[in-house]
Amino acid sequence: LFLTFEGGDGSGKTTQSALLTEWLTQHERTVLHAREPGGTELGLEVREIVMHRRGFVAPRAEALLYAADRAQNVATVVRPALERGDIVIQDRYLDSSVAYQGAGRILSMAEVRELSLWATEGLLPDLTVLLDLDPAVGRTRLDASRTRYDRLEAEQLDFHTRVRDAYLELAAAEPERFLVLDATRPVDELQQSIRGRVSDLLD
Ligand code: C5P
Ligand code: MG
Repeated sequence: LFLTFEGGDGSGKTTQSALLTEWLTQHERTVLHAREPGGTELGLEVREIVMHRRGFVAPRAEALLYAADRAQNVATVVRPALERGDIVIQDRYLDSSVAYQGAGRILSMAEVRELSLWATEGLLPDLTVLLDLDPAVGRTRLDASRTRYDRLEAEQLDFHTRVRDAYLELAAAEPERFLVLDATRPVDELQQSIRGRVSDLLD
C-alpha cells in the first residue's frame, strides 16, 4: 500500500503522516515513512541543491532534479518496500512536481506528470491525502513555527496560489485516488478522517 501526503507549505503533511505511521505501526503493520525531496543519499544532495541554491536553478533543471530524486527513491526505497509488503507513507510525491514545477513554475502540468511517470515507471499512490490550505494561512503557520519561512518569503503568494489551484485540479481529475481535507480543521479530526479512509483500503 502506497500512501502519499500532499499540500502546500505549512499544511500539516509531516504531522498527519507521522500520526498515521504511529497508528499503523501500533497495529502491527510495517510502515516505511519517507519524504521527498531527500529520501535517499542522492535525494539529500538534490534537496540541498533545489532548496538552498534555488536562485541558480532554471525551472526545467529544477523539474529534472526532482524527477531524478523521485526515480532514485522509487527504485531503491519505495518499490523494494512495497514488494516486501510494507506500507509506504510518503510526504510529497509526483503531485508535488505537477503542482510546484508544472503550475508554480509555469511549465506544463501534463509534461511534468509525464516526466514523473517516466522516472517512476508509472508508480501511482493507492491514496493521496491532499491537505488543502489557503497559502496565506500556511505562511502564517510557518512564521509561527519559525521553520523555513525564509522560503515562503522568497516566493510570491501567487506562486503558492497556482500550486494550491493545481492540487485541487489534480484531485478533481482523480477523485478515487485523492482524499481532500480542509487543513484548517483540528489535527485529531483530520487524523480520524485519514484513518477512516486508510482502514477501508486495508480491508
Ligand atoms: O515541507 P517539505 O520539506 O516537503 O518542503 C520542501 C520544500 O520544497 C517546500 O518548500 C516546497 O515548496 C518545495 N518543493 C518544491 N517542489 C517540489 C517539492 C517541494 O518546490 N516538487
Ligand atoms: Mg513538512
